Amino acid sequence: MAVLDVAICGAGPAGLATALYMLRLGHRPTIFERFDAARPIGSGLVLQPTGQAVLHDLGLLDAIRELGAPLDRLHGADARTGRVVLDVRYDSLPRAGRGLGIHRAALFGVLHNAVLAAGIRVVTEQEVRGLRDAANGKRALIFAGDRLSEAFDLVVDCLGANSPLKTYSAKPGTSRALSFGAIWTTLPWRAEGFEDTALTQRYRRAGVMIGVLPVGRSSPDSAARAAFFWSLKPAEYEALKQAGLDAWKQTVLAHWPEVAPHLDAIADFPDMTLARYAHHTMPNPTGDALAFVGDSAHSASPQLGQGANMALLDARALYLGLRDHPEDMGKALARYAALRRWHVRLYQVLSAMFTPFYQSDSRVLPLIRDVFVSFIARIPPAPQFLAAIVSGSLLAPLKTLELKRPPSV
Ligand SMILES: Cc1cc2nc3c(=O)[nH]c(=O)nc-3n(C[C@H](O)[C@H](O)[C@H](O)COP(=O)(O)OP(=O)(O)OC[C@H]3O[C@@H](n4cnc5c(N)ncnc54)[C@H](O)[C@@H]3O)c2cc1C
Repeated sequence: MAVLDVAICGAGPAGLATALYMLRLGHRPTIFERFDAARPIGSGLVLQPTGQAVLHDLGLLDAIRELGAPLDRLHGADARTGRVVLDVRYDSLPRAGRGLGIHRAALFGVLHNAVLAAGIRVVTEQEVRGLRDAANGKRALIFAGDRLSEAFDLVVDCLGANSPLKTYSAKPGTSRALSFGAIWTTLPWRAEGFEDTALTQRYRRAGVMIGVLPVGRSSPDSAARAAFFWSLKPAEYEALKQAGLDAWKQTVLAHWPEVAPHLDAIADFPDMTLARYAHHTMPNPTGDALAFVGDSAHSASPQLGQGANMALLDARALYLGLRDHPEDMGKALARYAALRRWHVRLYQVLSAMFTPFYQSDSRVLPLIRDVFVSFIARIPPAPQFLAAIVSGSLLAPLKTLELKRPPSV
């Protein structure tokens, strides 16, 4: 098998995992990242059993579990009536495993340390802007300032949802911005009134959604933290800031008084990050000597908590494609696309379907949600089905990608 020079654009979960897999195949990966030092953006996320299986395969799950917070369920109630409108328990599905709330810095740190320990080259302060064809079917990266990289046998786009390389796909697809996003922050964990093994949410119709997610620690010697989020329309963020932090806190507390200790830790709006969401599914996540992995190939609102997990599954699929077709790049990339096609499409559709029930101006959808969850969702097989959706296991991606179930905790 020829040793390939692989350019991996972006040092998020997709890029770091892909680099480790390329090295496992004996190739020469180089990661290019725009930041001066590779670092994570954002707050916390949920690692589903699918993403944990990939990390287990990479030998990193124990290190991740040492930092994260195990999750048994996702629980949400109506802010006004207290009625439970979401209760998805992982253990409804035999051997589903548990979720893992994790600080982004923890996930990043474990993957990044593994990349550095493996001796993979990471080049920072390189903003990728485009691609250029090079001799012998290779491709070079165009950086900001029109500088060119050396030529690579394969370019893997792991630049996330706003990747400028999407246009180099034969079928880039279109991105649809969602009207709702959220402000997120990470705060010290406050146990009073909160389960430490649950993502807890409060809703008022679909216009208000507040969440507290235990995310464990960002490093072994730091204290336990929680991700806190408030759903809002990015278009209304300026007006919210104009009204002032205290007015916003009063609104939050009117919906959920128990979060007062969490809110005390927020001193100003810059303590929070505004996240905008968009739906995008690339019909074919490949091109000439080019693969799209993670959010560059498919992005969605985080309602189902799948994005980072999908990125990790993609990295594994690209590994299998190249492993099975070492002498034929076209076939290897086609195999990669085929391995991920149906799982990605199903979850993109589910995410698009579920999101407006929790984040929209609709009055009808939250009513349906409230009736469904408080009644039908308790009747088998609905709890099993909901657990299968959330754990990422519909269409058995672990079997498709030759992954073992992560050991239970
Ligand atoms: C608020 C929020 C909550 C979420 N919650 C969850 C959750 O609970 N569970 C879950 O699984 N997922 C969740 N997600 C989604 C998850 O964060 C993404 O799916 C995941 O980070 C995608 O990984 P990625 O590596 O593809 O892209 P990214 O994480 O976006 O990484 C892209 C990398 O590329 C770099 N980069 C970007 N552009 C350039 C450029 N031009 N040149 C060089 N470098 C560049 C960036 O700096 C970054 O390091 C959430 C997302 C958001 C916004």
